[in-house]
Amino acid sequence: MSETQVALVTGAGRGIGAACARALGAEGFQVAVHYRGSAAAAEEVAAKLPDAFAIGADLADSEAVEGLVAELKERCGRVDVLVNNAGVNKNALVASMKLEDYDAVAGLTRGTWYLTKLVLRRFMLRQKSGRIINLSSVVGHTGNPGQSAYTMAKAGLDAFTKSLSQELAGRPILVNSVAPGFIETDMTAELPEAAREAILARVPLGRMGTPEEVADAVRWLATGASYVQGSVLHVNGGLFGG
Ligand code: NAP
Repeated sequence: MSETQVALVTGAGRGIGAACARALGAEGFQVAVHYRGSAAAAEEVAAKLPDAFAIGADLADSEAVEGLVAELKERCGRVDVLVNNAGVNKNALVASMKLEDYDAVAGLTRGTWYLTKLVLRRFMLRQKSGRIINLSSVVGHTGNPGQSAYTMAKAGLDAFTKSLSQELAGRPILVNSVAPGFIETDMTAELPEAAREAILARVPLGRMGTPEEVADAVRWLATGASYVQGSVLHVNGGLFGG
């Protein structure tokens, strides 16, 4: 890369986001390691990269999203890659799920939409280039009992990828999704052993994926993949083919 390019990875203090930050840092990007609550972890991820900094914001808060974008404008002046990785999952059957839990999931969807809008307006449309990668999920395609709000959000995120890619027709701004299967992170650490075994029985590769395996797909969409637009790349060990 001739000029230092900037990648913003949301929810990058841990899990898949941290792996994406490391993968993009290794590719030469300056990385904005975004966090909400995991400040110390995000600082640690950033400290281990050649050119990175941690930056905090609750994406469910629209003023915080505006503050995040303003800070990026001041610090970097550009954003070339946006990885919408931050996600929240609340498990409960529809009949018993609390509305506030639904709102926590939906609030992050709203924040992801708003952050993408602002990054487009402030940076990518002006730069006439960019890559947006949305972390959706296999369960947005297959459904999963107890994950109605989460699956609704993730299916919506893939539809957002497709709509936005069509809105950007003719512009070299690529928008794609990566849909992970079951990956070893804090999110899946809560799974009861029986549920974990039932999932693994359905995964042809016979194991859960690693955050690095998902980040590898994100890295490819961020740096290669020049003729891939509006696609969903499934990274799930064969659980579902799309
Ligand atoms: P994770 O370990 O549970 O981490 C979630 C991340 O989202 C954290 O970095 C958290 O930030 C951030 N976040 C949550 N709410 C936020 C908010 N309101 N504002 C800003 N950031 C917020 O997740 P993961 O397993 O790495 O998953 C990463 C992405 O992949 C998610 O979108 C998830 O849905 C998706 N995914 C994961 C799996 C899997 O098996 N793990 C499978 C399919 C899809 P703080 O820690 O700083 O609060």
